[in-house]
Amino acid sequence: MDRGFGLRSKRLFKPDELILEYTGEIITKDECLARILTTYKSDKCSYLLSIDKSLFIDATRRGSLARFVNHSCEPNCRVEKWIVGGKPRMALFAGDRGIRVMEELTFNYRFESFSQSNAEECRCRSASCRGLLRRN
Ligand SMILES: [Zn+2]
Repeated sequence: MDRGFGLRSKRLFKPDELILEYTGEIITKDECLARILTTYKSDKCSYLLSIDKSLFIDATRRGSLARFVNHSCEPNCRVEKWIVGGKPRMALFAGDRGIRVMEELTFNYRFESFSQSNAEECRCRSASCRGLLRRN
């Protein structure tokens, strides 16, 4: 997979500071799988984020800038799930060491594969890179 555009911070973020919400269409795992096998079959970039084992966010058509954040095996951000008014919401937070100005934001997608055939090469180039990631 070629890396997407990526997203850089315009300002400093303190450790654990909220950066932005990851918004998009909330869909079931079955719907997510169906879209991967049909609509998004030939897409190089995936804007699908796992909320939990049964729900996903599809930010392909509409979604916040958070969808442009690339994967890294050594990320500087993390995504956390919050329950607001009974509904799950995902937000991007700065990692333990904060974010510098113009630093590229990354988080670990924690790919859970639907099948082995979805495995792709990871190009994050970090020291602890596993070399392979799987689309979810
Ligand atoms: Zn990697």
